[in-house]
Amino acid sequence: MAKTIAINAGSSSLKWTLYEMPAEETIASGIVERIGLDNSIFTIKYGEGKKYEDVLDINNHEIAVELLLEKLDDLGVLTDINEIEGVGHRVVAGGEIFSESSLITDEVIEQIESLNDLAPLHNPANVTGIRAFKKVLPNITSVAVFDTSFHQTMPAVNYLYSLPYEYYEDFDARKYGAHGTSHQFVAERAAEILDKPFEDLKIITCHLGNGASITAVENGKSIDTSMGFTPLAGVTMGTRTGDIDASLIPYLMNRLELTDVQDMIDIFNNQSGLKGISGVSSDMRDLEAAEAEGNERAEIALRIFEDRVRNYVAQYMVKMEGADAIVFTAGIGENAPETRQNIINNFKFLGIELDEEKNNVRGKERIISTDDSKVKVILIPTDEELVIARDVEYFKNLAN
Ligand code: ADP
Repeated sequence: MAKTIAINAGSSSLKWTLYEMPAEETIASGIVERIGLDNSIFTIKYGEGKKYEDVLDINNHEIAVELLLEKLDDLGVLTDINEIEGVGHRVVAGGEIFSESSLITDEVIEQIESLNDLAPLHNPANVTGIRAFKKVLPNITSVAVFDTSFHQTMPAVNYLYSLPYEYYEDFDARKYGAHGTSHQFVAERAAEILDKPFEDLKIITCHLGNGASITAVENGKSIDTSMGFTPLAGVTMGTRTGDIDASLIPYLMNRLELTDVQDMIDIFNNQSGLKGISGVSSDMRDLEAAEAEGNERAEIALRIFEDRVRNYVAQYMVKMEGADAIVFTAGIGENAPETRQNIINNFKFLGIELDEEKNNVRGKERIISTDDSKVKVILIPTDEELVIARDVEYFKNLAN
């Protein structure tokens, strides 16, 4: 049976999901962590709730891929590694080169590498994953799926920064956005749920996970999104600042006695957001627990998060002159009813309202607004890996 593997490679990790295609059935998934370090952790979930775990030294991504295929064979998940006919790789930055997924060739790898400056941590890691699979399974359909490509339809008014225009022309300094596969997946699904053509709808998608972004999808196209040149911009996130005044950079560097601007950016990426404000955690569940115990900084962190998401939803509603649906997805969007309620509460004056009982659900696809709400609010679990597997299937079919 034909199988496709969706890969998300980080600098020291390799996350994967194996699908039976075209049935779109998940057969196994897992992660290899601490690649290149001592005691790498190797996990496979398969069958009916079975789990294989091992701790060993895995020196590089290529060895991780070899080991993975060997184990899938040993565990009987595959009868032969040649059953894997396709691999799809998540790539974070596609710049202006990739407005859709692409078959991977040597030229495409070079193009992805030419965009390393746009995602210095992610793109090189993504290419490491691509090379590892190319080496171990050289003849299968290999596809790159970009986080940014769905947003390539944004008009210049929305992607340009108010900087000297030459910085865009000469240095590619513009908004690219991220989470594109997720926004596209849930927006298309919303159209199916509403039983209307995707091309006729105005949809605001809220991907609220550790990283969070909001997108305005008009007539089937992303027209604006909250993340920017990199995923640091937009709403408050688990550990990222979201939008801030750039003047804080020299001011804080001076106060903190930092000399390398990268150290400041690292603080904005890893020590800020919900974690920085609360001093408790970047994790929503910890913050909800701390708030219940009366922790004021956890409470203010939660209110700031809700406020920043709400601002973008309101902004996009005005930009599109209305909305047919507001969609919540990802860890927080799918599992935090109170956060959804607090965000949507302010829209009552526009006739947009959640049904308290319907909203009290986690992780299940469902319309959660009242029957007469002017805009449908929908909870839709995202599935970025499935989008990757579908794109591989598309290229496989083209080749046949
Ligand atoms: P990532 O961006 O890492 O993929 P996820 O989409 O998994 O992140 O989202 C992680 C966030 O979802 C965390 O803040 C986590 O606390 C939150 N989350 C997960 N389950 C729940 C829950 N039951 N209630 C509230 N928040 C939750």
